[in-house]
Amino acid sequence: MSGGIFDMALKQLDDVAKKINLDPNIHAVLRQPERELTVAVPVEMDDGHIEVFTGHRVQYSSVRGPCKGGIRYHQDVTLDEVKALAAWMTWKCAVVNIPYGGAKGGVRCDPLKMSKEEVRRLTRRYTVMIMPILGGRRDIPAPDVNTSAETMGWMMDTISMFEGRAVLESVTGKPIELGGSLGRREATGRGVMFITLQLLKKMRCDLSETTVAVQGYGNVGSVAATLLYEKGCKIVGVSDVTGGFYNPKGLNIPKINEYVKTSKNNLLEGYKEDGVESVSNEELLLLDVDVLIPAALENQITERNALKIKAKFIAEGANGPTTPEADRILETNGVIVIPDVLANAGGVVCSYFEWVQDIQAYFWDINQINENLDKIMVKSFDEVWAVSKERKVDMRTAAYMNAVTRVANALKQRGIFP
Ligand code: NAD
Repeated sequence: MSGGIFDMALKQLDDVAKKINLDPNIHAVLRQPERELTVAVPVEMDDGHIEVFTGHRVQYSSVRGPCKGGIRYHQDVTLDEVKALAAWMTWKCAVVNIPYGGAKGGVRCDPLKMSKEEVRRLTRRYTVMIMPILGGRRDIPAPDVNTSAETMGWMMDTISMFEGRAVLESVTGKPIELGGSLGRREATGRGVMFITLQLLKKMRCDLSETTVAVQGYGNVGSVAATLLYEKGCKIVGVSDVTGGFYNPKGLNIPKINEYVKTSKNNLLEGYKEDGVESVSNEELLLLDVDVLIPAALENQITERNALKIKAKFIAEGANGPTTPEADRILETNGVIVIPDVLANAGGVVCSYFEWVQDIQAYFWDINQINENLDKIMVKSFDEVWAVSKERKVDMRTAAYMNAVTRVANALKQRGIFP
């Protein structure tokens, strides 16, 4: 064991394998990515010199359908990390039962230090280098850290140039004009809202008396906060990288949204409202609330602060905000954690809708998108909830049990080729 992040992903799989009595033969197959591709990505920089970046695409599983997963541009990208993220995409798609396997891609680079033209050239060369294993029916990329709808537009164009036709279904998270889906931008936060409402319903909580704190006021956090506010919950705390605000009577979320529209880098810093106190990110996590939504970074709830968490419920908007040690402490204290693979799956579900629309060349209206998202999120929540009650395990374990069982059953039914 090298102790890398992929080892952590394998340990999760091994633990679940025991709980579901997974056939050791199937287990052995699921412990390895199906395919790993590492490519050199030479890019002519604006000053004329050539920089050679390293890129990866890992297809963890195609057992249940085409591989699916985002593309990350970051200086810390490693093959080990991409493998772990590809495994987690496999389980996430299986938890919400959409017909996809899992994949992930990444290029080790710092796009914030590159010009837009350099990033565009990098994207096109990387796309061509991994194109032999991509395809709208084989492996469909999407945005991740430091990639956007614009990046997906460049990828889709590159693939389309080689195919000689517009291949809309080749990537998701595209601009609307290129076959992107309505509602995609809000889908992850909206999914967090649906999941939170379903949990509150199970626990018979009155929405007007429910207090919520949200860490991270970006794409996921701000949408989740706004939609829960619109449903009548009291959002008492929000924060971002500049710190946070707390009002026990409930924050004025529409006013905050107006403020961040024009604030520097759309950050909360400088916001003013009567009765509001400033809190640090650390304090925000420890507020006495019903629901805590970590929607910023990984490793926020750790063995250091888990004992002091007062929230009854945690809905993980971010990926990996709770460490395994913290998980154990929270469980002992009776805190219900809705795991990332379920709570933030709304984004990939809407990517699935985008792909379905692209293939059918028929586009849905926003009501159809949101109603279908609601249905899938609530059904997945109920399935995980049922296993959690039946087997007396926490929601994370139950989600993984559902996911791994689905992938394992599909593999069993397909059999091992030849
Ligand atoms: P984002 O960049 O839009 O927002 C991130 C927010 O976190 C910002 O408000 C930022 O200020 C805040 N933040 C950054 N550093 C912080 C710190 N040290 N302390 C407190 N706040 C900090 O990103 P996003 O798309 O909203 O993603 C947030 C999380 O959700 C990530 O973990 C991401 O992997 C996960 N996620 C996103 C999607 C999606 O569709 N956007 C889907 C699934 C999971």
